[in-house]
Amino acid sequence: MRLVLLGPPGAGKGTQAAILSEKLGVPHISTGDLFRANIGEGTPLGVEAKQYIDAGKLVPTDVTARMVESRLNEDDAKNGFLLDGFPRTVEQADLLEGILAKQNATLDGVVEFRVAEDVVVERMLARGRADDNEDTIRTRLHVYRDETAPLIDHYGDAIITIEAEGSVEDINARTMAALEALAK
Ligand code: AMP
Repeated sequence: MRLVLLGPPGAGKGTQAAILSEKLGVPHISTGDLFRANIGEGTPLGVEAKQYIDAGKLVPTDVTARMVESRLNEDDAKNGFLLDGFPRTVEQADLLEGILAKQNATLDGVVEFRVAEDVVVERMLARGRADDNEDTIRTRLHVYRDETAPLIDHYGDAIITIEAEGSVEDINARTMAALEALAK
């Protein structure tokens, strides 16, 4: 199954993706995790990305899309994936379509995790990641509203909306039920 996971920062996409990855047997590909791994290893990509991530801004699309394309071309992603954090703009969505077209593949769906803004701020402050301070959180929420939320219209009927407040288990059960309905 080839799925994109959408939702504001702090929506719990990463947590849900880890569980779904296990249940569906497809890799969880998170652009944020890939960037953080590159930063940790001090690669040129990591050095370039860090300044944007620390400011809560988007890393330039050419750099990001190249990283995603090479990851999607790895063997474990050939039959499916959960893409978490990409696309984040309509331009990136078009690039993703092009990357998949080269593999003769298309998305099966786009899961939108819907959460109220005060809940996501609370969750982000609680997890304490390096880019989770109040200023950066505010910037990331703006970026989400302005650049990423338009993807919900862009994907139209492919969107599967999940109410993502409550326990991790409940949210996972809702997501699995929605994906089972999709598979029928
Ligand atoms: P995340 O772990 O998804 O919250 O991503 C952390 C940070 O990585 C974001 O705030 C951006 O700076 C950067 N990032 C992740 N995915 C993308 C993307 N698709 N395009 C541009 N920047 C990204």
